[in-house]
Amino acid sequence: MSNKYIPPEYGSKGFTCPICGTYSEQEWIYPSYSGRLTPVSGLAISFCRYCENTGRSENTYSVWVNEKLVYPISSNAPLASEDMPEEVKEIYNEARNITTLSPNAAAALLRLALQKLVVELGCQGKNLNEDIGELIKEKKLPEKIGQSLDSVRILGNYAVHPGEIELKDDIETAIKLFRLLNLIVDYTITHPKEVTELFEKIPEGKKEAIKKRDGKKE
Ligand SMILES: [Zn+2]
Repeated sequence: MSNKYIPPEYGSKGFTCPICGTYSEQEWIYPSYSGRLTPVSGLAISFCRYCENTGRSENTYSVWVNEKLVYPISSNAPLASEDMPEEVKEIYNEARNITTLSPNAAAALLRLALQKLVVELGCQGKNLNEDIGELIKEKKLPEKIGQSLDSVRILGNYAVHPGEIELKDDIETAIKLFRLLNLIVDYTITHPKEVTELFEKIPEGKKEAIKKRDGKKE
């Protein structure tokens, strides 16, 4: 078993199961006889060996129509960070639900979620590119966080206006964008909140001494 994400692929003997999230062997059946005048075509079912063996999932199979995964609709995309603002989370979850059907649409929605997030972080929300520049400068964001913001912005834009990059069937890249959005929330919301909470516990006298050391006035 491997932790590396291998996206579900039609007809493949093994991939990361969209139900249990484990890399596992897949067994395929292609039902065609319907008992009616019209035969069933384009239907396939992949059974996850790990789900079957462990019995930890209610369903053990994924359903495919015309080579596209249609069930389960929720993807292996990570859950939204707990500190993600509600309005942002709503769009994030919408993107999660369509990742396997359309990684492209998911990337576009994640860019929209980022637009909402920068407003929550105090930006104007008129021009995402400028807002990111402002955030990096004002919040002194590390380079890698800046790159995360720009990756979601630019790749999300390619999803809407395809150019040099095509995200059409690229579930793996879409999943990475979900991780980046959580990383951005972690750095800009969760981390400062935790540090502040902890610092509050320090006795006033010690805080005064710190202020003095750093030359800050009341
Ligand atoms: Zn499974």
